[in-house]
Amino acid sequence: MGRIVLDKVTKRFGSVEVIPPLDLTIEDGEFTVFVGPSGCGKSTLLRLIAGLEDLSSGKIEIDGSDVSQVPPAKRGLAMVFQSYALYPHMSVRKNIAFPLRMAKLDQAEIDRRVSNAAQVLNLTDYLDRRPGQLSGGQRQRVAIGRAIVREPSAFLFDEPLSNLDAALRVGMRLEISELHKRLETTMIYVTHDQVEAMTMADKIVVLRAGNIEQVGSPLDLYRNPRNTFVAGFIGSPR
Ligand code: ADP
Ligand code: MG
Repeated sequence: MGRIVLDKVTKRFGSVEVIPPLDLTIEDGEFTVFVGPSGCGKSTLLRLIAGLEDLSSGKIEIDGSDVSQVPPAKRGLAMVFQSYALYPHMSVRKNIAFPLRMAKLDQAEIDRRVSNAAQVLNLTDYLDRRPGQLSGGQRQRVAIGRAIVREPSAFLFDEPLSNLDAALRVGMRLEISELHKRLETTMIYVTHDQVEAMTMADKIVVLRAGNIEQVGSPLDLYRNPRNTFVAGFIGSPR
């Protein structure tokens, strides 16, 4: 579960075509990174997949069904926001449980999922604290916990580490990579940071002005960049 297919997807804002017709397949369980300069359409593409923006044309399939008209909450995906999106007045436990309460799951199921997520993220000892009593890394893990409990078929991350300091960013990259290994769930990760792309991805999608310049493994792109834009962006010695 978690195969995502974009079929001639386009997006315009007014008369501006931000995403020209784009085809892309993301395989089940793959860690895919969308990388490219600021304004190239990374967030728009992720939001189209999440259903937070409507397509201008084309279609998106998840596990074989067309979800183009399906509202975000029904797509089985979880978007990870930055840590500042936590509710400051709620405990960690309540923050993590929040999407499940909204979905009206029963309390026993909520407890089970929250304690599993806390275990995976090493947050078991912090469940009764409030976000303000946590470190930046712990807060980020709570934000991820809130996605995990929904048991999504894919996780969508939009520059989740951009507000963290450099040292913490390195640690959180490892946390997210470890989580991917453990859950084996599809992850799409948006960043403008080449190092993040090169170290975390199974597959990198290099975007420029809404176009896919190249798709491949980090090593493919490093060894065989298709053009000078990709070479420059990936840091190939050519
Ligand atoms: P990235 O995430 O790669 O920095 P975005 O996807 O946020 O890029 O933006 C891609 C382009 O679409 C930019 O030119 C941006 O100004 C434009 N854009 C994004 N959202 C909107 C919107 N709601 N209305 C108009 N233009 C938008
Ligand atoms: Mg963005």
